[in-house]
Order: sequence, then C-alpha cells, then structure tokens
Amino acid sequence: MKIAIIGAVAAGTSAAAKARRTNKDAEIVIFEKGRDISYAGCGLPYYISGVTPSRYNVVMNTAQDFKEKYNVEVLLEHEVTKINSEDKNLTYKNLKNGEEGEYKFDKLIIATGALPIKPPFEGLDLENIFTLRSVESADKIKDAVKRDDVNQAVIIGAGLIGLEMAESFRELGMEVTVIELQDQVLPPFSKEMAAIVEEHLKEKGVNLILGDGVDHFEGQEEVEKVVTGSGKEVEADLALLSIGIKANSKLAEEAGVEIGETGAIKVNEKLETNLKDVYSAGDCAETTDLLRNKDIWLPLGSTANKQGRTAGENAAGGDASHYGILKTGITKVFDLTVARTGLTLEEAEAEGTDAAVVKIKAHNHASYYPGTDDIHLRGIFDKENGVILGAEVVGGDGSDKRIDVLATAIYNRMTADELFQVDLAYAPPYSGPKDAVAILGMVAE
Ligand code: FAD
Repeated sequence: MKIAIIGAVAAGTSAAAKARRTNKDAEIVIFEKGRDISYAGCGLPYYISGVTPSRYNVVMNTAQDFKEKYNVEVLLEHEVTKINSEDKNLTYKNLKNGEEGEYKFDKLIIATGALPIKPPFEGLDLENIFTLRSVESADKIKDAVKRDDVNQAVIIGAGLIGLEMAESFRELGMEVTVIELQDQVLPPFSKEMAAIVEEHLKEKGVNLILGDGVDHFEGQEEVEKVVTGSGKEVEADLALLSIGIKANSKLAEEAGVEIGETGAIKVNEKLETNLKDVYSAGDCAETTDLLRNKDIWLPLGSTANKQGRTAGENAAGGDASHYGILKTGITKVFDLTVARTGLTLEEAEAEGTDAAVVKIKAHNHASYYPGTDDIHLRGIFDKENGVILGAEVVGGDGSDKRIDVLATAIYNRMTADELFQVDLAYAPPYSGPKDAVAILGMVAE
C-alpha cells in the first residue's frame, strides 16, 4: 500500500506517524514544499522573543529523523501541483531543481494547512512588513528585530497570535502598538473579559488602537508608518499583519474535493473527503462543533494533531474517529492566562437557548498561601436544565486547569449542580476548599 501525504507540519506528520504504527509495510511519502517539518507553529512567538532559545527547540524533527524513527520518506521543497484522484496519482515539482514528477498512491491525506490573509493594502510590498506562519517567516522577523534601528512594532490584529507577538516584541524591549478593527481585543471573547485583557496590555506598555483598521502603509523601501482608516498615523520600523488565515484548500478543490461553506475541506468523522481514499486533516479541513452538530472551521494545533492521527490510522487500514471540538483555546498574554471553550452567549441564543451568563471572581488558591492570583470565570448556562454550554477564563496561575475542567464538564453535558458536586483536588497552594469552578456552579444554581 502506498500512502501519500501533502504537508509535513502538525497534521501531516501526525498522520504519517500513526499510519506507520497501524501498518508496518505501507510505503509512506510526505511531500512538503517548505524546508522544515513537524515544527511547533505555536512556539514561534517564544522563538522570536528568545524565551525559547534555539530554532532546534521549535523544529523538533528533521526529514532524516522521520526516516529513521518511522521509515517515512519526507520530500522537502517538493510542492504538489496537481492531484488526479481518478488515476490516483499526483504531480509534484522539486523546488530545488525545477524538475517535475508523478507519484501513484493508494491513499492520499491532504494536510496543506492554512495561509495568512493579506488584503491588498497600499504599501504592503514595503520591506519589514511580515506575517507569521512558518519557522521561515519567524526567522525573517527574528533577523529584523536584531537590528538596532528596529524599535517600533505595529501589530495589525488583536487575536491570539497578535497578542502573543505583542508580548514577544515587548520582551525584546520594543515599543508596541496593536491596531484592531473591532472595538475589543480577542473578538471571540466577551467584551467584559476582553476588557480585563485590555487593561493588562496597557499596564504592560502596549498601545491599543481599537475600532480602527489599517488603511495603508507608508515608507521609502521599508515600512515607516501605518495609517489607519480614521487617519491615525503610527510610526513603525516593523509591521506584523495578523488579521487571520484561510484554509489552503485550492489544490484539493481543483481535484474535485468538496469544500464546505467555511472555505475549508469537508470531512466526516473518519476524516474522509467526498473522494474515495482521499482524506484531509488539520488547518485545511473542517471539523464539527460538538455542541451544535455543525460543520465549522477552527484551525488549531490541538485539532490538527488529532485529525492527523485519525486520518493516518484510517488511511493505513484502521478504523478511528475524531468526533469534533468544543472550540477550546488558550493563550498567554503577559501575566494573564486567557482561555475559552464551548458556545458564546450569542451562539447559544442563536440556537434558541434561553441562556444565562454567570460571572465570578475567585482566588486561584488559598489567600494565605503566597502568590495568590485572581481568576475571572464567565459561564454560559442553559436556564432550562442548568447545563453549562460555554466558559471563559481570564486570570493568573491555575487558570489553565480551570478551563480544562470546564471543557470536560461541557463535553459531558454537566449541570451547574454537578460543577459544584464534582470532587476537585484541594490543598492551599493549588485551590480553595471550594474551587473556582465549584463556585461558578454554586452561583449558577
Ligand atoms: P500547517 O502548519 O499550515 O502546515 C501545512 C504544511 O503544508 C505547510 O508546511 C505547507 O508548506 C505545506 N503545503 C501546503 N501546500 C502544499 C503543497 N501543495 N505541496 C507540498 N506542501 C504543501 N494552535 C494551538 O492549538 N495552540 C496555540 O497556542 C497555537 N499558537 C499558534 C501560534 C502561531 C504563531 C501560529 C502561526 C499558529 C498557532 N497555532 C496554535 C496553530 C497551529 O500552529 C496550527 O493549527 C497547526 O500548525 C496546523 O497544522 P497543519 O499541519 O494543519 O498545517
């Protein structure tokens, strides 16, 4: 059996490793147009700031490692240019020497990921305007910030990556301005939780321009100024465009793979596409919102890994499923942990649910033990049956475990009373006798 995989980051390499464990004899080949494999995209902001010291820390495997560990051939700088699903072959171009070739497969996994959105802003072709997606793109930013005359960073977009990079640039001693079109940071979060983050960003010296977008960039050769829609002019030695990504699904679409309304590849829980023996996984593919039983696209490394593993097992002859997600996400914004899971209030109401919002502030652990931090929890509950549908957490140490408890509760359709009843661990350095999650349940009851 011959298994071809396109893309060698989270989904592609997870698929290859699992396919090998499932089938010892299959020939497995990964085609990757870039120069790196299996890197931690999520670690790139820390690589740029130097908190993660070396490139080696974020690029965890080489093609050679993959060959030795899994007997998987990784062809770097090989771009797949066409998929012929009827004849089951693909055409590729070796980007090193321009030569083209064909590869015949029995099973194909498309893991082509996502691409940064770059609207045609005037001045976008000036130097020192970056997007961040691959290690190579991080290398370019790292080179730019090494220069003594690069001190002012302007980030366009206050999403997770934009804010992680705000911290990263501040870590490097730079002046940072974040410009966001919406009137709050982290648009999937509620305004009241976003306001806590905004206050913290200001305390950390980040300039925020909210409710205003980029109009154009100005400069001679390099960017010197970002001009906003309202006419504000922000000086910049470097600009980072971080306004979102889109599924890289064109190659698949051209081959007749069905694309969902979200623009990403439609897959079922086996990660099969509409074409026989063609699977897709990761940022190029849709997934299911478990609470609404709806196809959605939420590109995250956690999902890419699980989908890749599932696609790899199935392509190699196994029978695995990935049911979907709760849209759980987490990020670190300086000293705050910011996380969410499940439905927003607006989503719950759009489903016809009579939903209640419950917000509490609790300590992360006993107040007499050093290092007490506040944790803000906001839960969305179904008023009819008390079931928790969604949650947001913003706070200090220990916020991460609260969001994971709440994601587990939502996955299991637990009620406010059950949040109170569940027997969570307690000792003064870790929690209070009534944990923050139990308090949320008590208040919601
Ligand atoms: P990608 O990483 O996009 O990889 C796809 C690969 O396919 C690319 O290497 C590309 O070169 C290759 N390819 C595309 N087309 C072709 C072709 N025609 N031929 C050959 N090769 C091709 N997620 C989290 O869950 N938590 C986080 O904290 C987090 N932080 C992030 C921070 C940053 C800065 C970034 C950029 C992302 C972050 N993510 C995070 C998202 C996470 O990195 C992605 O979800 C994950 O990398 C997706 O993996 P993937 O394999 O699906 O796609």
